[in-house]
Amino acid sequence: MTTSRFYTLPELPYAYNALAPYISEEQLKLHHTKHHQAYVNGANAIYEKFDKARKENSDFDVKATLKELSFHLGGFRLHNLFWENLAPAGKGGGGAPRGELAKAINEEFGKFDRFKKEFTAAATSAEGSGWAVLTHCMKTNRLLIMQVEKHNVNIVPGFHILMVLDVWEHAYYLDYKNDRAKFVESFWNIVNWDEVQKRFDRLKK
Ligand code: MN
Repeated sequence: MTTSRFYTLPELPYAYNALAPYISEEQLKLHHTKHHQAYVNGANAIYEKFDKARKENSDFDVKATLKELSFHLGGFRLHNLFWENLAPAGKGGGGAPRGELAKAINEEFGKFDRFKKEFTAAATSAEGSGWAVLTHCMKTNRLLIMQVEKHNVNIVPGFHILMVLDVWEHAYYLDYKNDRAKFVESFWNIVNWDEVQKRFDRLKK
């Protein structure tokens, strides 16, 4: 694997039309090639600024720059995780978790429907733009739902991300207009539980 000192937009693990009708081709293409790309570009621009300033030994606004980087990098990483925890409905997408993950969800939330209800509430009630995120805490071995504002606010360091749902308006406005709740409902048809399970399994190694 070659490593770069900059970020690149990853390819989607499926075709742009693969998630329709829950996410249309036009909506997905725009989200990936414009919005996700913008976070890649935003993060890289800041790294270029670091390089330039350090080379010239000049100053930059550290506080503002780090805040902006956290936003772009958070957006970049969350979108990578988002595309990978989606799959075409009926071809890896939808259904319910199985195995150890199902067990952990039942242990924490009582039952899957209760988890779905809480995750849905986190997604629909995120203020402005944000994400619903299922995480795991190694200290307690418990699952925790986070409601991330923007891409970087309300995140608790050290918690492992298992599943994310983007509820920025740019994720659904072409398909659902202002109806975020309908988009969140659709998510359950295209969530890739195998991928979520894989992330969970990796924590145990
Ligand atoms: Mn997005």
